[in-house]
Amino acid sequence: MPNRVFAVTLLLAAPGLLYGQTPTHESAANSSPKVTHKLSPEAVHDSAIVIDTHADTPQRFVDENYDMSDPLNGGNLNLETAKKGNLGAEFFSIWVEPSLFKGHYAKRTLVLIDAVREQVARHPTQMMLATSPEDIEKAHREHKLAALMGIEGGHSIEDSLALLRDYYALGVRYMTLTWSNSNGWADSSGDDTDTSVPHTKDGLSEFGKDVVYEMNRLGMMVDVSHVSDKTFYRTLIISRAPVIASHSSARALDDAPRNMTDDMLRAVARSGGPNSKGGVVQVNFYSAFLSQAYRNAQKAQKPEVDKAVQELKDKAKAEGREVTYDQISKVEQQFADRIPRPPLSVLIDHIDHIAKVAGVDHVGIGSDFDGVEGQTPEGMDSAADLPKITAELMKRGYSAEDCRKILGGNLLRVFREVEQVSKHLQAEQRPRITEKQPFDKPQK
Ligand SMILES: [Zn+2]
Repeated sequence: MPNRVFAVTLLLAAPGLLYGQTPTHESAANSSPKVTHKLSPEAVHDSAIVIDTHADTPQRFVDENYDMSDPLNGGNLNLETAKKGNLGAEFFSIWVEPSLFKGHYAKRTLVLIDAVREQVARHPTQMMLATSPEDIEKAHREHKLAALMGIEGGHSIEDSLALLRDYYALGVRYMTLTWSNSNGWADSSGDDTDTSVPHTKDGLSEFGKDVVYEMNRLGMMVDVSHVSDKTFYRTLIISRAPVIASHSSARALDDAPRNMTDDMLRAVARSGGPNSKGGVVQVNFYSAFLSQAYRNAQKAQKPEVDKAVQELKDKAKAEGREVTYDQISKVEQQFADRIPRPPLSVLIDHIDHIAKVAGVDHVGIGSDFDGVEGQTPEGMDSAADLPKITAELMKRGYSAEDCRKILGGNLLRVFREVEQVSKHLQAEQRPRITEKQPFDKPQK
């Protein structure tokens, strides 16, 4: 990307020239590059290492045989749009639908991990498997998309620290403790009020605390998106490293239970202990998490949607079939399409709110691309639209430096610190947590 190289060179060569100097006339500036008064939003965006912490594309790889070189076909992310949007790194989400894959979560997890690795193998000149902050920087220098992985939902480890370590060895660098389903050791905001689901007493069981410790020890980022408020606070007390919320927005602006209160935003900023620089909240692009109006419209539609889903289930049952998550999603999608998309400004409002409440060092982007098709704000259709975020932030007075932090710098800082903490913990030589130990402890 020549733009990026140009902007970086300009910055390194003559930072003083960027501000305060009147642009010289074209002809008079023949020997030096044309110096503009201020970096344009395009130049700022192109000079950033843009990191998105959540895309559900792996399911497309597996279920639709989708390839990163294919046209979008209704999705949000492929190689072409990543390049256009100067996306430097993507955390591909390893998400196992809990009812459909009941009894073989680990197999589905491994299949999805393999699919990401296969994509990288198929596109060696355009993608690179990345497992560290240094890898992300290397991919950026080589103009490749850094492919990382995060597991969405602790049920993937099937209550086994051995599986957790296996996933780390295969390249997984964060794990969302729960998806919308609570598991045996952590609770989800998706079902924490459902009394038919068993829940932990304090947000994390004793084994859950071991999971968080083992993640800290391995250097796997602890992700608090989706978890219940109780699990959130318990995790922040337990975690020795700063945490991330890989794809969560602000509850003050949209009261989705999955969004974070101002207190939680500040808690993430302070996570990791007194010597930590704190964690980061990566804003989710899903309209129902961004716009209260959209969410209200969705709530109003709910009885109708529930009826349609029930009809689908009844029909399948009569025909002796199982309804898949995908089929239910399609029905929900048809209803969602009737709700007008909110303007892009709602997304920027959330970034701005988190920056004001938690600090500009504690906010980033976690799109949820390919998980919320057609339900992103107006103008945010694919990774190619990411530069619009930079442009809007600069309109609101955010500096080039702040934009680079939000676009990826903050996540890189947290990732580095998580690795540092991991080194310290590994040097402590604590007795290794055995596979058997958690089950010797009382769970309640
Ligand atoms: Zn999610």
